[in-house]
Amino acid sequence: MSEIRNGLVMKSTGSNYLVRLEDGSRLSCRIRGKIRLEERDTTNPVAVGDKVQVDWSGDTQETPVIVEVEPRHNYIERKSVNLSKKAHIIAANIDRCYLFVTLFAPETHLAFIDRFLVSTESMRIPTTLVFNKIDLYDDAALDLMQDIIAIYEPLGYPCIPISAINGIGVAALKDDMRGKQVVLAGHSGAGKSTLINALFPEAQARVGEISESHFKGQHTTTFAEMFELGSDVFLIDTPGIKSFGLVDIDKHVLSHYFPEMRAAMEQCKFHNCQHINEPKCAVRPLVESGEIAASRYETYLTLMEDDEETHYRKNKF
Ligand code: ZN
Repeated sequence: MSEIRNGLVMKSTGSNYLVRLEDGSRLSCRIRGKIRLEERDTTNPVAVGDKVQVDWSGDTQETPVIVEVEPRHNYIERKSVNLSKKAHIIAANIDRCYLFVTLFAPETHLAFIDRFLVSTESMRIPTTLVFNKIDLYDDAALDLMQDIIAIYEPLGYPCIPISAINGIGVAALKDDMRGKQVVLAGHSGAGKSTLINALFPEAQARVGEISESHFKGQHTTTFAEMFELGSDVFLIDTPGIKSFGLVDIDKHVLSHYFPEMRAAMEQCKFHNCQHINEPKCAVRPLVESGEIAASRYETYLTLMEDDEETHYRKNKF
């Protein structure tokens, strides 16, 4: 007799879906017929991170079938390169994204952080900045890190300094991840894999499958995969940092994805103020007084001027 069970999609190959049931067991599922889609036209009705209902009799001779997908509270998508205009949902229901930042070896530029945060803001993904490799920092570097934290923390982006090598901050980060579906992001070499191994040594063998190369932006797969770390952390490994690119962000709403501008712009004289050279703009005085960081405003101007292609050519990310 068939029975409906709740599950979580861990992996998808396009036709098969690995679903984790609430008791921790895993089933290879198919989807049946018409799954109710959201209004958006997507190439894949079911994505990693989706909460689903599975119809299965319990008989191993029968293939379990996904019959329902719960509404997503957010998702990462990639526009198809063909003309269908359909989007591919890479991962869904991300509770928090952790962006790895290193001051050197390699240096993470502030413009990169800003651009990344615009993307996660637009996708409604809460984001934390993780300052890794602080064991390498001298006093000057630690001061610089505090300056950067002073820019981002007041904007609602928690900052966690850590050293995966000597364990500083690692417990705090692990605590923060508990009970969440999370995504880690950052330049190759920012120490993502080392950190996962420090956080979850018991999962080391499995995590070996998570490749740093995913973060180099050159890869063929478009499928994400979710890893269960410890008992209550679900790490979604997404293919390619470019999936966080500024796809289709209307420049008229770009400032909405800068929280400090969002708070001020209701006071702008013109409803459609772009905060560049309009009279009685409420944002620009805050830049002049330093209440809005000059670096953040500069990134805003650059994004207003740039198109995607120019940006990649100039900045290589
Ligand atoms: Zn304005």
